[in-house]
Amino acid sequence: MELHDRNSENNSNRKLTVFVDIDGVLNTEDHLRRQKKQTGRTTSRDWCPIAMAHLKLVVEYYNGQIVVTSTWRYDHSLRQLKALFEENGVPGDFVVDVTPSLIYESSGKVNRGDEIRQWIAEHLYSEEIPRYVILDDIDEGLSQFGERFIQCDPQVGFADKAKVKKIAALI
Ligand SMILES: [Mg+2]
Repeated sequence: MELHDRNSENNSNRKLTVFVDIDGVLNTEDHLRRQKKQTGRTTSRDWCPIAMAHLKLVVEYYNGQIVVTSTWRYDHSLRQLKALFEENGVPGDFVVDVTPSLIYESSGKVNRGDEIRQWIAEHLYSEEIPRYVILDDIDEGLSQFGERFIQCDPQVGFADKAKVKKIAALI
């Protein structure tokens, strides 16, 4: 796949933050089915290689950094998440953080969109044109981000080329 940068002069030195969910985006139903067929077993730690190749392409091309939004962050440290991405083909150094778990900090109802909103408020300068995308299979408060929310079909996740093209058209 070829990528391009529409505003390369303005954006080439600015990081693209990619908020990444795991189940339904990298750990896909199609790939679990493939594992079952090939080995008779499935493991959620073995993610779709096509989705991972697409993610690697995006973060390498757009000077990207990955922030994990998945519930995997509840029971995996950042170090463990980095190792998992690395084992699945995306260098761990690209994984820089996780979104805050607001649900553990208040009794009120908080959704994933609010957690991302808070991370952006704390880490991305408001005067900048926002440079981020959100990959998730479920719209849990994410439609507020408009076209920056790239919704994936949990069958194929980010293995769908059209999602990569959507990012290319946006950035
Ligand atoms: Mg998911």
